Amino acid sequence: MLELNGVEHVYPNGTRALNGVTISIGKGMFGLLGPNGAGKSSLMRTIATLQTPTAGSIRFGDIDVLAEPTRLRSTLGYLPQDFGVYPRVSAYDLLDHMVSLKGIANKADRKATVETLLNQTNLWTHRNKAVAGYSGGMRQRFGIAQALIGNPQLIIVDEPTAGLDPEERNRFYNLLVEIGQNVVVILSTHIVEDVADLCPSMAVLAAGRIQLEGAPADLIRRS
Ligand code: ADP
Ligand code: ADP
Repeated sequence: MLELNGVEHVYPNGTRALNGVTISIGKGMFGLLGPNGAGKSSLMRTIATLQTPTAGSIRFGDIDVLAEPTRLRSTLGYLPQDFGVYPRVSAYDLLDHMVSLKGIANKADRKATVETLLNQTNLWTHRNKAVAGYSGGMRQRFGIAQALIGNPQLIIVDEPTAGLDPEERNRFYNLLVEIGQNVVVILSTHIVEDVADLCPSMAVLAAGRIQLEGAPADLIRRS
């Protein structure tokens, strides 16, 4: 269970991006819906311990996130909105490197972990291609593969389907739903249908505050 209490964030230029966010999020897919500028990325970065809130508290299970950020990071998978640079290294080698960075030194363990991740994200047949040459959908699935290293209990995906075609989007979401059976997955997006279709619970963020919270069926009027 992830619990935020009165989380605020004021950027150095005075922009108040988060204005008292209080919410509890349990296992499964949770949709965070909101228009551009609502504060979604700020909230995702805050939960991912990339920025420290100017007020409030955050707990994940028995972890006091602001006091023990490294403990949270050890159980976090984060797919940011702009997933950095795509090197001219094969997916297999890149994942192998990332797995070793997580402290899995034994070669056989690393091999098993990398193979599981590639199979899980349907990238096995593309394992020897450079990630730089991947399509948008493949890149996002690669992003999930790297986010899953170390069996995180909290997974954050920020606007993950921008630029994906409908088929790639469905594959990506099927993967998320599968993952979300066992862990907390937070999906941040401005696309109402994605949340309605995928998430048993959701919240609407606007102007840095939670405006609504509950089941999509109760909150979203569908035409
Ligand atoms: P969303 O992800 O919902 O589009 P953001 O969290 O990116 O919202 O932005 C929320 C508000 O904070 C916006 O007004 C945005 O301009 C502002 N903002 C975001 N990042 C920064 C930053 N690093 N410095 C100052 N203002 C920022
Ligand atoms: P998003 O997470 O939605 O992509 P960004 O952080 O890239 O948001 O930017 C969203 C808005 O925040 C933009 O309007 C941008 O100008 C503003 N912004 C981002 N970083 C800063 C910053 N360091 N200082 C001021 N405004 C910023």
